[in-house]
Amino acid sequence: MTSPSSTPPTLIRHAQVVDAATGSLREDADVLVAGGLIQEVGRGLRSSLPGLVELDAHGRSLFPGLIDAHVHVTAVRRDLRESAALPKSYVAAAAGAQLRTMAGRGFTTVRDAGGADWGLAQAAADGLLGPASRLVFGGRALSQTGGHGDLRGREGGADPCCSIGQVCDGPDEVRRAVRQRIASGAGHIKLMLGGGLSSELDRLDGDQFAEDEVRLAVDEADAGGIYVTGHAYTPESISRAVRLGVACIEHGNLLDARTAALMAAQGVFLVPTLVTYEDIADYVSSGDAPRHYAEKLAIVRESGVRAIELAVEAGVPVAFGTDLLGPGHARQLDEFTLRRDVQSPLSLLQSATTTGARLLRHEGRLGVIRPGARADLIVSDLDPTTEYLDGLRKQPYVVMAGGVFTDSDAGRVLGA
Ligand SMILES: [Zn+2]
Repeated sequence: MTSPSSTPPTLIRHAQVVDAATGSLREDADVLVAGGLIQEVGRGLRSSLPGLVELDAHGRSLFPGLIDAHVHVTAVRRDLRESAALPKSYVAAAAGAQLRTMAGRGFTTVRDAGGADWGLAQAAADGLLGPASRLVFGGRALSQTGGHGDLRGREGGADPCCSIGQVCDGPDEVRRAVRQRIASGAGHIKLMLGGGLSSELDRLDGDQFAEDEVRLAVDEADAGGIYVTGHAYTPESISRAVRLGVACIEHGNLLDARTAALMAAQGVFLVPTLVTYEDIADYVSSGDAPRHYAEKLAIVRESGVRAIELAVEAGVPVAFGTDLLGPGHARQLDEFTLRRDVQSPLSLLQSATTTGARLLRHEGRLGVIRPGARADLIVSDLDPTTEYLDGLRKQPYVVMAGGVFTDSDAGRVLGA
């Protein structure tokens, strides 16, 4: 097992430490890590901790590990119905592998937007998966019958084994489902509040769940100390969600200026996921995708960039998300490329660190390099305040997730 307690303390010397919140750099700084946490940041640090490993960053940038705020680690295939029909054991193993790979890529925390449960999060936290992303889960996303998370087909019946959604109708079922998630330690409640690409039975422009169901989910989540995030594309679905107390909008591709202003006024987060539409476009071109993917893709693909532009202009807190499915996960860093025209490198770094941490309600513990924060960090030649993070692919870099290097070769890369 690779839990922080079984990992030796580490002192990384001579780094250029990045403060993502301000974009300022601290030259020639050392970072001491022990017990999975950052213990100290400063010049010329000394430590007498037993077993201390010292590494020299040679003036490279050291910045917080990234947060992908919209993943589906249990979506093992691009076709969600196919994925949902796989045995649980296979899906769990594949999701574990996904969490390891994501951490190695630099995403040391991921927020699951439908499918992952507490068992997977606990396995990651216990070190059973090796160095892996920390998983913030919300369980299966709640969906009305015929909604975006209903993968049962036209005949209804029981949810398939590994659906990313759970069908519930009416206040009582919604209430029970929300309370059960809170009891399991969920970080958020995901509601499907409008149609989506992967669902065959719904329309993109239709609202889902009645107002009393949404309001009740918001109240119950609030009582349990967590929040509701909603899948929505149209200005109508988004503004209805904001009015009913939903704290975050997933995708939001058809956002208009008026709705962006409303989100900003309420402090509602946006998690755009541009890269998934590019991946689905390729899936459609391959001829393997179910037909409804193509029809709905055409409605949302082009508008996603403009939605981010409007959100940034209005002052909406914009996080970083990808929403990739199955083999598409390999493109996780491409989201940085797709946002180049509408966000600066620093703005994107903040989306993937400080803003994500605020959304996850882990401010001060994630997305920062400071004592007491989780030891999630990246050491790279790239300066993330002036260069886009998709550039990470061009040279070797080192990732530490919860005090553990994701690659046993980290010492060699750092030239220890
Ligand atoms: Zn999603």
